[in-house]
Amino acid sequence: MDVVTIGETMALFTPETSGLMRYAHTYSRKFGGSESNVAIGLTRLGHRSGWISRIGDDELGKAMVSFIRGEGVDVSEVQVEKSAQTGIYFKELRREDDVRVLYYRKNSAASRMSKNDLNEEYIAQAKYLHITGITPALSDSCYEMLKEAVHLAKKHGVTVVFDPNLRKTLWSEEKARQVLLEFVKESDIVLPGIAEGKFLYGVDDPQQLGERFLADGSTTCVLKLGPRGAQYFTREKTEFVPSFTVKKVIDPVGSGDGFCSGFLSGLLDGLSLYDAVRRGNGVGAMVAMVNGDVEGLPDKRDLELFINETDKDDV
Ligand code: ATP
Repeated sequence: MDVVTIGETMALFTPETSGLMRYAHTYSRKFGGSESNVAIGLTRLGHRSGWISRIGDDELGKAMVSFIRGEGVDVSEVQVEKSAQTGIYFKELRREDDVRVLYYRKNSAASRMSKNDLNEEYIAQAKYLHITGITPALSDSCYEMLKEAVHLAKKHGVTVVFDPNLRKTLWSEEKARQVLLEFVKESDIVLPGIAEGKFLYGVDDPQQLGERFLADGSTTCVLKLGPRGAQYFTREKTEFVPSFTVKKVIDPVGSGDGFCSGFLSGLLDGLSLYDAVRRGNGVGAMVAMVNGDVEGLPDKRDLELFINETDKDDV
């Protein structure tokens, strides 16, 4: 396995009409979860990924696992929880510039994950363990599980990759800051956005943020800068890597996960850090051009065409 990831995926319902959701009668149904998005991004690019999670003993859970399995992700470590349901969420499109997310995930099947869900051998045989700051916000048992997963990864020399993925609606700011910093300190690679960096350290200057993340223990920090691209920091070097021109942004949500899959794909293929970040930028930009989190994730051929054909200098 190249990358193992752990986290909750939910059924996502989006009204087919915009405006107040109380007037919506028809919805499209997809699935959304940061960690499974990354796993799918990796299989599209030809890598082997596995996703650890829990689903309810229900139709939505079954459809979700079929979908993720169908994308080539190993789901052999997904457990079925009899006493809770698969989480769901809605995207309410009030206006073009006012999209709200409503979660129905409290006490969901995935929030019941615990240390018992972890198979040491499964984690030990991966090259990377990918985790996000969403999972420890779900429940105390999820927090404990994630700490144990990191412990197992370190024990077996598996590189830990952490995307803080701050979700302020899931917990208090104080708790979020404390726990996210705990995971920053335990991770080898961190992939924050500027807003997350500012939330954690109170500064938004990229250079200062990169230095703070490294001082807290990561060997590599890649700061995502939205449409501009990303900047990586190691103890030896920092470089800004511009992204690619996107003529029309359709749906930027999921670009961060796309970036992560492209970046890890680059590392797995032995690219330099600059080129791995560039691959991440390419996937992030391609995801922004398509509706949905995973629909825009490219295979390697499409990605190479996009990277080679898109003018990156005028961003
Ligand atoms: P998410 O909303 O998925 O959580 P994020 O905040 O983690 O996203 P972003 O910085 O928005 O991450 O996007 C990740 C990367 O995708 C960026 O660093 C950039 O390389 C690329 N990207 C995102 N949006 C665009 C865009 N409009 N044009 C070009 N590249 C983009």
